[in-house]
Amino acid sequence: MSETDPGFIAAVEEARQGFSEGGVPIGACLVSKDGKILGRGHNMRVQKGSATLHGEISALENSGRLPASAYAGATMYTTLSPCDMCTGACVMYKVARVVIGENKTFVGGEEYLKKRGIEVVVFENQECMGLMKKFIEEKPRVWYVETLPPTLPLSLPPVLIPAYVLLESSSPPLTCLQCSNNGIHRNEDIGED
Ligand SMILES: [Zn+2]
Repeated sequence: MSETDPGFIAAVEEARQGFSEGGVPIGACLVSKDGKILGRGHNMRVQKGSATLHGEISALENSGRLPASAYAGATMYTTLSPCDMCTGACVMYKVARVVIGENKTFVGGEEYLKKRGIEVVVFENQECMGLMKKFIEEKPRVWYVETLPPTLPLSLPPVLIPAYVLLESSSPPLTCLQCSNNGIHRNEDIGED
């Protein structure tokens, strides 16, 4: 596995595409055991107002409905460590390997993948990290919404995150990704999307 694999190059291209569309710049590509690209895609949550279209899910979706045998020995390339949902999808379809561009921005279900017998390879790809860094700097509020703990409501009030939300979700305490403070932040403190 290397950063010059066609599947990885495709995943990074997808992440770039996502960035250019104003979305979360995470791309993925599913490659069969014999090296054929089955499908590729990028996170479309912002673009489509989607609940589920993360990069890996987009790649699976764009691969179409395949027989279970198509996933045997397959590799899922993704530019960022996969979240619980995408980890679950990789486990469910029984891909053989998940190759990750970077896990500095976010660490997902890597340990669970390994427990389920899936090989995990992590690069420290500078472009993947750079895209996420630029995205979070430019649109902190969009990323903030992506990473809210599940106990928080999905629809944030327009101006203020109310105190009760913070109190009810105190484990772990809500930490502002921008300033590392716990507490209430006006939206202007964390930027506009
Ligand atoms: Zn995901």
